[in-house]
Amino acid sequence: METNVFSVSLAKNPAITINITPGHFTTNNAHTNNYLDVSNLKSNTAIAMDVAQEFAIPYVSNTFVDTIVCMEKMEVIGAYLAQSLSQDGNSVSTGNKIYVVSPISNAYGNLIFPTSVVEWIAGKSVLLLMASISSGRTLSGGIECINYYGGKLVGVSALYLASNVRSDMTIYPLFTSEDIPGYKLYSTNECELCKNGVKLDAIISSEGYTKLQ
Ligand SMILES: [Zn+2]
Repeated sequence: METNVFSVSLAKNPAITINITPGHFTTNNAHTNNYLDVSNLKSNTAIAMDVAQEFAIPYVSNTFVDTIVCMEKMEVIGAYLAQSLSQDGNSVSTGNKIYVVSPISNAYGNLIFPTSVVEWIAGKSVLLLMASISSGRTLSGGIECINYYGGKLVGVSALYLASNVRSDMTIYPLFTSEDIPGYKLYSTNECELCKNGVKLDAIISSEGYTKLQ
C-alpha cells in the first residue's frame, strides 16, 4: 500500500506538504481510501512555525485569544501560534499571556481538563486546534468540552478539513478534501472498499497508522 504515496503542498508555501498513502484504512468511526500523514507538520519545528503563521492570519486583526486548546498532538504548532499571536505587532492579542493546553480522556472516554488548567478555560477566549477533521465527531467532542468548562470558543483551525463536515463554527483549514484527488470517507457500514471485499490495511489514530497485514 505504500508504493503510491504522493504529496500535496500548500500553494502559497510549498514547504507545507502532506503525504498521502492510498489504501483502505479505518479510524475509530469511519473508513477512508487515503491516509493523510501530517506528522511532519506537527513535529518538524521549522515547518510547524510556518503552519502557525498561516493559522494566525484569520485571527491577528480581530480575534483576542487567551488560550489555545490542542487536540491530536497539535501542541508544537499551538506554542508557535501563541507566540505569533502574542508578539505580532498587528495582533489584537499582542502582549497577552496565551496558554496552550490539551484535554485528556477520562476512564469513560470523555474529554476533560485537569483541575489545574481549568482557570485558563473558564471565561476565556479559546482557540481550538485540530490535526484532521474528517467526520466531525472529534471536533464536536472538543467543542463540548470547551463549552462544559465555560470557555468562549472564538475559532477553530485544522491542518485538514473534509468538505462535508458541517459546524456552527467557521473552521480555518490548511487543506481540504478537495485538495486530495479521489479522497473518500465512508461510514463504517457503507464503505465501498469493504463491499468489494478489499481488506483493511491499517488503523489510523492521532499518533499515525498501525498496519493490519
Ligand atoms: Zn472499509
